[in-house]
Amino acid sequence: MLYYDFHIHSALSPCGDKDMTPNNIVNMAALSGLNAIALSDHNTVGNVRAAMAVGRACGVSVVPAMEVETAEEVHVLTLYPSIDAAEEAAAVVYKSLPDIKNRPDIFGEQLFMDEDDNVTGYEEKLLISPTSLSFDALFDLVKSVGGIFVPAHVDRHSYSVLTNLGFIPDNLDIKCIEVSKATEDLDAYLAARTELKKYSIFRNSDAHYLADIAYAEAYLECDSVSDIFRTKGCHL
Ligand SMILES: [Zn+2]
Ligand SMILES: [Zn+2]
Repeated sequence: MLYYDFHIHSALSPCGDKDMTPNNIVNMAALSGLNAIALSDHNTVGNVRAAMAVGRACGVSVVPAMEVETAEEVHVLTLYPSIDAAEEAAAVVYKSLPDIKNRPDIFGEQLFMDEDDNVTGYEEKLLISPTSLSFDALFDLVKSVGGIFVPAHVDRHSYSVLTNLGFIPDNLDIKCIEVSKATEDLDAYLAARTELKKYSIFRNSDAHYLADIAYAEAYLECDSVSDIFRTKGCHL
């Protein structure tokens, strides 16, 4: 059994707190009793390698991930079986971002960090813009590298597939969705939306601050995170 939180932002997301360093995130996750986390910054995987290195030293599995904003302004949590796969997808995502410079005074700094939490650089392009990738095109990209496509915080009134598209397209083989922690009573939420019952539901923190990282509540019925990328998958 793996206790997880697969939606955490680092200081590379402009909205992520400066204290969201690789070591702080992984150590907070360990303190919270989590076995597996994902660093899922907006439209980038720039701090994932550092977090994975820290995770290996601390016994916390760090899944390569990225929260991508589609052309329809839908947020999608994407999880990858390897850092190489994640970086391949991230290169396409980065090219699909508009060439708008970050304004740190307005949006916050976008910090690259190494595994010792040293700041190694600043991302100049604003990461919190919609990409030019459609929801369908992003699905194909993630699938092409063996990743998992999870429409994020579907219960929210902005940046969610249910708000922006109005439905989850049936022509795509989507197996998982994320319902945010803002919806406390998941059973009641799903009871009112029978069309969502066929999906496995991820419950993540979407933490931008250390204190928001999840406690060990949501779990996966599998022994290792690599199981979630196998055909059979594992149960949420
Ligand atoms: Zn989001
Ligand atoms: Zn997020």
